[in-house]
Amino acid sequence: MQKIILYYKFVAIKDPQMTMRWQRELCRRLNLKGRIIVSEHGINGTAGGDLEDVKAYVREMNLTPEFKGIEYKWSDGSRDDFPKLSVKARKELVTLAPEEDFDVFDKGTPLRPEQWHAYLEEHPDAIIFDARNNYESEVGKFKNAITPDIKTFKDVKAELDKLPKDQPVLTYCTGDIRCEYLSAYMKHKGFEDVYHLDGGIVKYGEAYGDKGYWEGKCYVFDARKGIAFSQESADIANCANCGAKTSRQENCSGQDADGTGCNLQFVICDDCAAGGRVACSLHAPVADV
Ligand SMILES: [Zn+2]
Ligand SMILES: [Zn+2]
Repeated sequence: MQKIILYYKFVAIKDPQMTMRWQRELCRRLNLKGRIIVSEHGINGTAGGDLEDVKAYVREMNLTPEFKGIEYKWSDGSRDDFPKLSVKARKELVTLAPEEDFDVFDKGTPLRPEQWHAYLEEHPDAIIFDARNNYESEVGKFKNAITPDIKTFKDVKAELDKLPKDQPVLTYCTGDIRCEYLSAYMKHKGFEDVYHLDGGIVKYGEAYGDKGYWEGKCYVFDARKGIAFSQESADIANCANCGAKTSRQENCSGQDADGTGCNLQFVICDDCAAGGRVACSLHAPVADV
């Protein structure tokens, strides 16, 4: 049996290059594949392999003072869900502002799902800021959340200017690393009162399903794309072709005149996709196929 783990930890790393070499050696020895990033601020990784080998990886991590006690998210999957083993040392664990220096460890206040829920109950006008990309918030988000129209995380910086700095801002993301990191950046930028959803949408969904303040699907970066927390999960996105409510997303199969693949991810309903070939509005309209 094989498994995949997903994890991160913000912790000071003295020598990221050395940690990178150790991780590379450890993963090779245990025959794991995946992507691991090490920085002066910690580690962020996902890896897959035989269950026994993944367990051995976790054991070895727990033997180090820096990486002891990480909360791993386990999921079904295998080594070959990853093309190779990639272990890198970078300036940041998630690319946000590599050219700026700020205190990564001075973060906003974490709210566990039940605290987040209670906060929203008590503050119906709370400013909720989605720290994810547009194709993620398109299919699911917290009710009344501000969803920036961005394609990559680092573009979120420009969107912060639209938020008030003297009022509480709640930010969230899928599994917490982006919004936790963003909360530190926001404090650095002068936001006085910042909160982030501890454990991310995934933990909130496990606790409240579709009976709380979440609506739609939770986008994930694997073949499942949007996951539903219950049978009552709503479709909140509109088909790019006919406008019907759907959560289905596909990559455009169209090509530009020079042969470059489009690959744009867009929303399309089952009926419109039934033709078998899907293309965004810039390429062959689906209705004509
Ligand atoms: Zn449609
Ligand atoms: Zn296209």
